[in-house]
Amino acid sequence: MNPVIVIHGGAGAISRAAMSPDKELEYHAALRAILLSGQAVLAQGGSALDAVTTAVVGLEDCPLFNAGRGAVFTSDGTHELDAAIMDGATLRAGAIANVRRVRNPVLLARKVMEESRHVFFVGEGAERFASDHDIALVEPGYFSTPERYAQLLRVQRDNPNAAVLDHDGQAIVAGQQAAPAHPLDMDKKFGTVGAVALDARGNLAAATSTGGITNKQVGRVGDAPVIGAGTYAGNETCAVSATGTGEMYIRMVAAYDIAARMRYGGATLAQAAHAVMFESLASIGGKGGLIAVDGQGNIAMPFNTEGMYRGFARPGQDPVVEIYRA
Ligand code: ASP
Repeated sequence: MNPVIVIHGGAGAISRAAMSPDKELEYHAALRAILLSGQAVLAQGGSALDAVTTAVVGLEDCPLFNAGRGAVFTSDGTHELDAAIMDGATLRAGAIANVRRVRNPVLLARKVMEESRHVFFVGEGAERFASDHDIALVEPGYFSTPERYAQLLRVQRDNPNAAVLDHDGQAIVAGQQAAPAHPLDMDKKFGTVGAVALDARGNLAAATSTGGITNKQVGRVGDAPVIGAGTYAGNETCAVSATGTGEMYIRMVAAYDIAARMRYGGATLAQAAHAVMFESLASIGGKGGLIAVDGQGNIAMPFNTEGMYRGFARPGQDPVVEIYRA
């Protein structure tokens, strides 16, 4: 076995010119620390499920990324968080959407997977399940950061009907671009987080967590918590976590399409991930990226935007962190 953990912190128009050296260092350091935490789980013989959970909790707690603390705002100035996790060994899955007070949505998704007979909870019922199962709840203000609020105000001022993918919103606040006229700006940045892993027993797992998109309508759910769209894992094929224009990933059943191409068409992971990113998603204007790993420890991290916060780590080797195109 060739254990490995792969993470992402969103894809988009991340240009070198727009990124200050300090900010770039901050992103590098955060991604590296999170990779080390997932790598440590795998190195100690831990499960892929534990490795992706640990990594996504780290990404949720880091305000640089649009998940957990630092999540983007809805058009009402609130936060609604979505997450999912899937175990490739058993095909069990847990997902939650539209939660407003769950500190680490991925932990709730995992609890749903492990302790419920259901797969997907939303809103009030999801929060009730959380409090019944000792999942930490916080006041909604916990998720708010001044940067994300500035993002919302700026988007609402310039174009109240626009909904903006996260890293775009950051560029807007920095004055690098105007708020887009299109309701979902396809060309910019997405801030969802995710992780996929292969462990020493040959098991795969995937997890994804997001605040969605800035100024999204209340009640809108993206691809992240939809099993087969933004998150999927099956030991026979691969584990996938996506980031990007969620509506397109849902319509293309993107994550599962990678597994299906491998399973039914005999594609390699690299071929399947490439085809979904650059053919299927691109054919309907889908923008973003994804990370994937197969049962041999091969990885793929394709994206069709300028950059994607991403990295991978294998036990015993230094983690690799990348932001831009090679
Ligand atoms: N895919 C996410 C969503 O549509 C957005 C993102 O990747 O940032 O909710």
